[in-house]
Amino acid sequence: MNNDPTPPVSNFIRNIVIQDLESGKHNKIVTRFPPEPNGHLHIGHAKSICLNFGIAAEFGGTTNLRFDDTNPLKESEDFAQAIMNDVRWLGFEWDKLRHASDYFQQLYEYAVHLIKHGKAYVDSQDAEAMRASRGTLTEPGTNSPFRDRSAEENLDLFERMKNGEFEDGQHVLRARIDMASANMNMRDPAIYRIRKVPHHRTGDTWNIYPMYDWAHGISDAIEGITHSLCTLEFEDHRPLYDWFLENIPTECHPQQIEFARGNLDFTVMSKRKLRELVEEGHVSDWDDPRMPTIAGLRRRGYTAQSIRTFWKEAGVAKAESIIPMGVLENAVRNDMNEKAPRVMAVLDPVKVVLTNYPEDKSEWLEAPSHPQNPDMGSRSVPLGREIWIERGDFMEEPPRKFFRLRPGGEVRLRNAFIIKCHDIIKDAEGKVVEIHCEFDPDSRSGLPGASRKVKGTIHWVSVEHGVKAEVRLYDRLFNVSNPLADKDKDYRDFLNPESLQVINEAIVEPAVNDGKPGDYFQFERVGYFAIDPDSEGTKHTILNRTVSLRDSWAKLNR
Ligand code: ATP
Ligand code: MG
Repeated sequence: MNNDPTPPVSNFIRNIVIQDLESGKHNKIVTRFPPEPNGHLHIGHAKSICLNFGIAAEFGGTTNLRFDDTNPLKESEDFAQAIMNDVRWLGFEWDKLRHASDYFQQLYEYAVHLIKHGKAYVDSQDAEAMRASRGTLTEPGTNSPFRDRSAEENLDLFERMKNGEFEDGQHVLRARIDMASANMNMRDPAIYRIRKVPHHRTGDTWNIYPMYDWAHGISDAIEGITHSLCTLEFEDHRPLYDWFLENIPTECHPQQIEFARGNLDFTVMSKRKLRELVEEGHVSDWDDPRMPTIAGLRRRGYTAQSIRTFWKEAGVAKAESIIPMGVLENAVRNDMNEKAPRVMAVLDPVKVVLTNYPEDKSEWLEAPSHPQNPDMGSRSVPLGREIWIERGDFMEEPPRKFFRLRPGGEVRLRNAFIIKCHDIIKDAEGKVVEIHCEFDPDSRSGLPGASRKVKGTIHWVSVEHGVKAEVRLYDRLFNVSNPLADKDKDYRDFLNPESLQVINEAIVEPAVNDGKPGDYFQFERVGYFAIDPDSEGTKHTILNRTVSLRDSWAKLNR
């Protein structure tokens, strides 16, 4: 499936794939996306998803979704379900759904194969001794006293580990490679450990679980993956990946290729930290619209298309970089600019009375749903003698360049006509509570007089027809660009206390109230908003601000 309307962007991985197809090394590309079901996916995972699924789709290949479920302590079926939902929502469909746990028996047999060939041994040192004998980056490690156990003894111990005869940590199975290797990953890495815990898919079957590196490459080989794409921190694991595949009886040897992680500023992106934010109540849940999770972005109003475009434009390379949040925001802004129907909403209302408008009259004006796209049709906007406007669109004593409403001044009401302010009414504290205006009937949109120009146009909603709504305004979750930069502090010290502002009494056009969760709008002159699922079952609509119309952070230069 290729759901992307724009041409592909070249990158070094794509070039390798093209070469491998041209040279006949492969005639079909098979990739996989291998998440661990220990949390929800975040925007960084989306990079890997777009890359793996995108490249296979482009060349007529397929992609598996494989859960890397080798650590039963942290994983769950709920997370697996959420991950599947997110991948589909992003617009991708996997060929095969697989789990590393599907291969536990096979992985075990391959480990037995290594033992029989003298290439793995059971180490009975404790964790402390094992760490001490690993050496350092500058010093070689030393061999374990158990390194030369016979194959028979190893086979016996490994089987008994499997049968649950030992406790966690008593023994591990290690590959027998080279304790003096310059690459620490090659210093007899553990490939099996004892973990006497049930697994969410295999139950009590196993008392030993494979380590990531062992499970990963072999799973790739079993599935016939051609290109195993992973992030840069696995570059030093590649010799191990290759060693494992060279030392087990398999025909298939996928090529591991590393690329740089996708990073964004003003957020954190590890599942462990995201989980902490949820569990400690800093956010409402994994899908809190301030979270960088796919679920959070979706709830906030991001479209799958905007996320795909974002990663496509960011490109795939070997160099680490941190992308400004504003770039992601721009991606959804551009997508929304094309797709979002326009409506009017007033977030901080003050009343305007049109004193020359008949008392008992109201009317419905046809307004385009999108000024540049007539195919999106139109909507009916009700108008009466009283309307709400934004408090900030009126100033009693404005500065020179204020082109909105002022005493004696004129402004155009969006989709309607020009009004002129002739009076204001204040309460005892001097706060403006009513603005009295006359409208100019000849200046109505669509009439010949409509061409009369005034400097400002403002949005408005009819008092009689407008509907109350709750609006949630989001700002960045952290108030520094890299919450992890200061090693002496905890990233939670940098949470932005103003990341959520709730407006309880915004007024929206009735059209908004007909929407359902997930529907999105442009509130003209204000921003893009999406209906929150919390709206369901409540009397009023709840809207999340996806993004403002302009990037207000760009000029703050923080
Ligand atoms: P986290 O630390 O956030 O949990 P992870 O790498 O442990 O990330 P996995 O579930 O193991 O998460 O990741 C699944 C796939 O997604 C892996 O192939 C991993 O390399 C990739 N991935 C994870 N984070 C990013 C990122 N920020 N950019 C690109 N790919 C990523
Ligand atoms: Mg992980």
